[in-house]
Amino acid sequence: MLDKVLIANRGEIALRILRACKELGIKTVAVHSTADRNLKHVLLADESICIGGASATESYLNIPRIIAAAEVTNSIAIHPGYGFLAENAEFAEAVEKSGFIFVGPTAETIDLMGDKVSAINAMKKAGVPCVPGSDGPLGDDEDKNKSIAKRIGYPIIVKAAGGGGGRGMRVVRQESELISAIETTQAEAGAAFGNATVYMEKFLENPRHVEIQVLADGQGNAIHLGERDCSMQRRHQKVVEEAPAPGVSEQMRNKIGDRCRRACIELNYRGAGTFEFLYENGEFYFIEMNTRIQVEHPVSEMITGVDLIKEQLRIAAGQPLSIDQSQIQIRGHAIECRINAEDPQTFVPSPGNINMFHSPGGLGVRWDSHIYAGYTVPPFYDSMIGKLITYGESRDEAIARMRHALDELVIDGIKTNIPLQRIIMADENFFAGGTNIHYLEKKLGMSS
Ligand code: ADP
Repeated sequence: MLDKVLIANRGEIALRILRACKELGIKTVAVHSTADRNLKHVLLADESICIGGASATESYLNIPRIIAAAEVTNSIAIHPGYGFLAENAEFAEAVEKSGFIFVGPTAETIDLMGDKVSAINAMKKAGVPCVPGSDGPLGDDEDKNKSIAKRIGYPIIVKAAGGGGGRGMRVVRQESELISAIETTQAEAGAAFGNATVYMEKFLENPRHVEIQVLADGQGNAIHLGERDCSMQRRHQKVVEEAPAPGVSEQMRNKIGDRCRRACIELNYRGAGTFEFLYENGEFYFIEMNTRIQVEHPVSEMITGVDLIKEQLRIAAGQPLSIDQSQIQIRGHAIECRINAEDPQTFVPSPGNINMFHSPGGLGVRWDSHIYAGYTVPPFYDSMIGKLITYGESRDEAIARMRHALDELVIDGIKTNIPLQRIIMADENFFAGGTNIHYLEKKLGMSS
């Protein structure tokens, strides 16, 4: 096993990684900014190092400082968590070139999947179903672009190859808007992502977001751990996730899961990963692959019993997968509510001091969070402060547990989105299951 792991992240995921390391007997190094001295995992880690100022560019995004911290602590591996440098190929390369193990795929794989055009091409080759589209970047030939759009059929969506975070896309409903939409998206993408390449896809009107979790060891073995439904979103940000996805049969799961599993083997993928799909009328359409652990990974852990972070660490240590596909059994249902420090109506972030805190508990209730009474949520980072996960033998039981767990959860001193999560858990369409990606915004009276 790895002797010592440096955790290049903060908040709940840093604590989650620390817990997995402790269980595996791995020593831990926490790196943190000047604003994060009192983070729970910093206090619990074997060693901790302040790597820079509060701004993420000075600390959690500062590659040389993170590598230097790994050097002075004699760390063996670096776990990037999610966000920050987790999908940064330059970082993965710097880590490995400096003689450390990057807990994740190779820099080449991150690069391949980071460009959506090359990712889609790789997936098509591997037999993963994709959204009908331009099959490559758009050129300057206006007539050719018009004929591509005609072939796909309006509405279409123009997307930046290097886009992320729900930015760099534009829906086009008629030909007269096409050329200016392509030019605007190219200009925006060039400025925002340093890559002006755009491509075109059929715009699906009312899809759900359903994604497949995979694990692969880079030694010819790969498994899938079923799907998650993350359709409850606001501004392309997930708010509630669940597994399995309502209405997805075992047969459909096995079919799409097997395609993803095979793609991993073909790509010689290493680590945990997620294939994101839009799901409409019973069909899956690949949109992108995330080459890291995701926020919503606990719902898959709850229904499969597999600790995904421990598996990531084992794979990084060079071990072959400890489980094969036949050992993956999906049982019960899990739901995750993201708890954010924000105003539940205006969504304005609400950092500050937590003066009272009560965590929920009981059978089937999991609370993944770094907060405690007396902790101050800094204003510099993402507003997510915890994830409340419930498990039940049935979906109804998981929802019932979530409702009482939300009632038990008390975070006093700052505003949180707990009231919004209560509203979602009481919503009859959510209860029925299978709402699409526009549902929450429509319910909140926002146009999407
Ligand atoms: P990002 O990397 O920015 O998250 P994605 O390609 O994952 O970009 O798309 C983000 C979101 O944009 C999707 O979850 C979906 O809501 C919407 N979207 C993207 N492509 C399409 C499409 N072809 N049809 C409809 N909606 C889409």
